[in-house]
Amino acid sequence: MIVNEMMFQTAAQNICEVGRFLYSKGWCPATSSNFSVRIDQDYAAITASGKHKGELTEEDILLIDLNGKAIQSNLKSSAETFLHTGLYQRDKAIKSVLHTHSVNATVLSRLYEKQGFIRVEDFEVLKALPNIETHETFLNIPIFLNTQDIATLSKEVDQYLDNNPHTFGYCIAGHGFYTWGNNLNAARRHIEAFEFLFECAILEMQLQCKSNAS
Ligand SMILES: [Zn+2]
Repeated sequence: MIVNEMMFQTAAQNICEVGRFLYSKGWCPATSSNFSVRIDQDYAAITASGKHKGELTEEDILLIDLNGKAIQSNLKSSAETFLHTGLYQRDKAIKSVLHTHSVNATVLSRLYEKQGFIRVEDFEVLKALPNIETHETFLNIPIFLNTQDIATLSKEVDQYLDNNPHTFGYCIAGHGFYTWGNNLNAARRHIEAFEFLFECAILEMQLQCKSNAS
């Protein structure tokens, strides 16, 4: 193999495990979502397209180069692979990228599509994200329009990150959510924190609607 086989195997096992966890949370319906882990400066392991994310095995993980090309594999990665490799190319510190299709990210990103961001403010859980040390802050989580033109979307994300380097996740309207981290556990922590924030945002809106109606 072109990379350290042990490293690839460990990455594949860890991806399967995170898949089971994220599926169990209900964030990866109907074979959606994709997960990757960087192996070294030129290669990453990523989920094959169309696999059930709660039932991944090591055979469902393939090696790609950072141009998204499959290496020594008949498996195909998702069309969204470029959103992973774009992040790896722009920042060596990024070691894992997780993409999910949760109900909350999907609904909120549609609701705030015109505004272009979801604002979350004054939550203790914000401290689970890098460089945030107090709840007394806010985040504008960007929303990009959904498209099947992933190369263009990847460029848009890249440009946004150039202008907003302290970003650790974004939504695609009516589609889902991307986050990343300097290892798989960090990326998983981020996804849990963002999903918690999405759920709070929706619940607060629901309760406000009810109290306004009464
Ligand atoms: Zn997707």
